[in-house]
Amino acid sequence: MTDLDVIQRYLGRRLTEKETLNFGQFMMTQAGKATVKKARKELAASRKKNKAKKAVNKPAKQKEKLPFVATKEFLESYEWRQLRVKVLNHYGPRCMCCGATPEHGVKMHVDHIKPRRKYPELALSFDNLQVLCEECNHGKGNWNETDWRPNHDASKRVTDELMAHLRSL
Ligand SMILES: [Zn+2]
Repeated sequence: MTDLDVIQRYLGRRLTEKETLNFGQFMMTQAGKATVKKARKELAASRKKNKAKKAVNKPAKQKEKLPFVATKEFLESYEWRQLRVKVLNHYGPRCMCCGATPEHGVKMHVDHIKPRRKYPELALSFDNLQVLCEECNHGKGNWNETDWRPNHDASKRVTDELMAHLRSL
């Protein structure tokens, strides 16, 4: 940065032609040199201050980071793996959406009905989990909260009705 640049930036405006001429003369003097030196120093200090301000603002942004249960690492956690196996054992490895099983060559996923990112408190809730094949799970997306689980209450009601009917014969 030239001396003229420094002074113009320091003043926040361009010097007029006449001022520029006078400035040239001013810079020949000790006072002129001292003034520019001071202006350079102040500009550097304010730049440093701005940088520090930015650095302080940064951690605030990082605070918005994902809750642990919404991260990939969560899927590696012991708690999740254990619950996942429990869900697969409970329902069996059959896609609740299309009925595919590993025999069809599909990979089974244990899916969060209500997505982890939006409902972190339900990440380890058995009742929030369903078995889907990889394809159905990927087709689902985080926006879709469809519960594909078989309706146990409904099937029990049908069975009860059937038994009542059979008994009445
Ligand atoms: Zn499926």
